[in-house]
Amino acid sequence: MFFELNEQQKAFQKRVREIYEREVSPFVEENERKETFPVQLFRILGAEHLLCLRCPKEYGGPGLDKISECISTEELNRICAGIGSGVMVQSGLATDPILHYGSEELKQKYLPSAARGEKIGAFALTEPDAGSDASGIRTTATRQENGYRLNGSKTFITNGTICDFVTVAAYTDPAKRGTGINLFVVEREDLGFSVIKKLKKLGNHSADTAELAFDDCDVPKERMLGEQEGGGLRQLEGTLKSGRLTYGARSTGVGQAAFDALRSYIKSTSRDGQSLARSQAIRFTMAEMATSLEAMRYMTYRGAWLFDQGLASMKDASIVKLFCTESLQKIVQKAMAIQKNIGLMMENPIQRFLRDARLFKIPEGTSEIQHLVIARELGL
Ligand SMILES: Cc1cc2nc3c(=O)[nH]c(=O)nc-3n(C[C@H](O)[C@H](O)[C@H](O)COP(=O)(O)OP(=O)(O)OC[C@H]3O[C@@H](n4cnc5c(N)ncnc54)[C@H](O)[C@@H]3O)c2cc1C
Repeated sequence: MFFELNEQQKAFQKRVREIYEREVSPFVEENERKETFPVQLFRILGAEHLLCLRCPKEYGGPGLDKISECISTEELNRICAGIGSGVMVQSGLATDPILHYGSEELKQKYLPSAARGEKIGAFALTEPDAGSDASGIRTTATRQENGYRLNGSKTFITNGTICDFVTVAAYTDPAKRGTGINLFVVEREDLGFSVIKKLKKLGNHSADTAELAFDDCDVPKERMLGEQEGGGLRQLEGTLKSGRLTYGARSTGVGQAAFDALRSYIKSTSRDGQSLARSQAIRFTMAEMATSLEAMRYMTYRGAWLFDQGLASMKDASIVKLFCTESLQKIVQKAMAIQKNIGLMMENPIQRFLRDARLFKIPEGTSEIQHLVIARELGL
């Protein structure tokens, strides 16, 4: 067993840390305040080969592994979780199903431009009445002479107002509950596709989130992923597994940012004439936070390693998401408690970390759903 990043991975970590500090940090304050995603960043990160990291070179990506993706994700989310959301969807949910189930033509059409940041992708599964139970979606894709006609609405869609294309889940056969679903690529220009509204959120302010509508939206049959009708939810399993591991890296990044901010604060602050860094209660809290971060990081990178070997089960991925997102809640709550009123001030980053962390418990399966998955795979 070997628990350290190798020299190549350490060099990659150093490189991405420098790039994110230089290229992403300048966008954070303004875009968090305006609640907008800095779309120009997609091209900047594309030029640095930091989008769609696991996409093979023949489709325009750098062809890296899951460990590298987690390294990059941790560093990006240390700078900004909102921006991290948009990048994660571009590199995972929107493009992964195309890579694994799209025809050669679809791969060539969407993946290189997504990897270069020229086209922005979104992924639309959740609906106003269906989230955790994906089989409850109502969007339909009705067979036409040369394609499918989509009708329905989707909500909480990351990159929703800024996307050029969206990978959409819809029923081709509503009678086959759960199994009669397919994934389709819809383009922004397709007639019948519209953005209903942009959504305002508690956290991840610089992530773009929207409600979308498909009203008699016709797509050619070539834009269905896979050759047969049905099985769309099954196609999402690998993407979900990968996404849950990514949340381990996102949580570690935000947790590390909170820890670093708190460390600077206690080293530079005194109460009643004594440095906070000399308070035993605070030293113990910092030690606990550091311990949690260590465990989150090991668990995430072990999960990523298993994924790269083709050995990660959904239980492995769910354990990573559950443990890391829940541990993060405790870290940010403790950081807020130590800073007291100062932590609540909007110029203080701790309030942003606390708001961002709360959202992490929901996408790619809520904490309750992770419990269900783990218990099921334990044979219970
Ligand atoms: C910031 C953010 C970004 C998102 N981005 C996207 C995106 O890009 N694309 C997309 O398609 N979706 C996206 N989502 C939606 C997200 O995937 C769903 O919100 C999530 O799956 C939960 O669905 P829901 O909100 O409908 O809650 P529900 O499924 O209605 O659940 C409500 C509550 O009940 C609990 N619950 C549900 N079922 C059970 C059960 N069987 N046992 C015990 N408890 C249960 C849940 O844990 C939750 O607490 C995003 C959400 C957020 C917050």
